[in-house]
Amino acid sequence: MSPVPVSSPANFDFHCHSTVSDGLLPPAQVVHRAAGLGVSHLALTDHDDVDGLPEAREAALEAGVVLVNGVEISIEWEECPIHVVGLGFDPLHPGFVAGLASVRGGRVERARRMGESFAAIGIPGVFEGAMRYAGNPLLISRAHFARYLVEIGLFKEPRNVFEHYLVPGKPGYVEHRWASLADAVGWIRAAGGVAVVAHPGRYRMSGGEMRRFLGDFKDLGGAALEVVCGSHNADHVLHFARLARQFEFHASRGSDFHGPEESYVDLGRLAPLPEDLKPVWRLLDL
Ligand code: AMP
Ligand code: MN
Ligand code: MN
Ligand code: MN
Repeated sequence: MSPVPVSSPANFDFHCHSTVSDGLLPPAQVVHRAAGLGVSHLALTDHDDVDGLPEAREAALEAGVVLVNGVEISIEWEECPIHVVGLGFDPLHPGFVAGLASVRGGRVERARRMGESFAAIGIPGVFEGAMRYAGNPLLISRAHFARYLVEIGLFKEPRNVFEHYLVPGKPGYVEHRWASLADAVGWIRAAGGVAVVAHPGRYRMSGGEMRRFLGDFKDLGGAALEVVCGSHNADHVLHFARLARQFEFHASRGSDFHGPEESYVDLGRLAPLPEDLKPVWRLLDL
């Protein structure tokens, strides 16, 4: 009798970052680390850029991981900064490519102004220092600023930086014009992908605002919510599972891994989705 094949359970992680945005590992290393941790299906979702996908795809073939094309687009809805994950799109679709380029544009100028804001409170050289951490200078982000402020000894960990700096009302925060919700969902859908609200538990919105936002997202053709993610606690999971049911959204699962020492959780190290929810991977050709 032939032995029963031993297959490991599926483990989907549909949100993580590489050095193409503000992650600490190059795309291939992210994929190999994911494989080592038992992830079977991975979406690399760099901020506003898909340049890491070819390298990730090659590594996924070697590592035996199913790679899904991903991106995390920075948008603004009613003055609230929000992230929308796109999955399973054609990364060469011209409208999608042009849309992402438009979101990336202006990050360097914003970063210069962030540097000026630090200089004004007596901390010089922060723009240059942050740039040294940016693997992709066009994607310079607040995460790179946080790493530099840790380097010069102002804080112990990047997350502590966001308690004092880089957020609205605090030094280092500079308003920025991101994409609109309609733009981001439109680009993703035009390129054949599905749009997912990233880490909904992290937005500073009232219950009513969240419902209005989800209504707008649904009307535009948004498909899913991240219900289980690195920054959600058990209450967030229950809450957003309920909203996913009410709004008839599919559900996604993602670590939001940025690097070994700088993440809520490691790749794939997440609870399963609540059983009755429709997983977002059912909408994709895997
Ligand atoms: P940006 O796209 O430049 O606005 O930067 C956003 C990035 O900063 C996020 O993707 C995270 O990597 C990081 N970030 C924002 N808020 C926090 C926080 N409270 N703790 C840790 N990292 C954060
Ligand atoms: Mn980030
Ligand atoms: Mn995000
Ligand atoms: Mn992210």
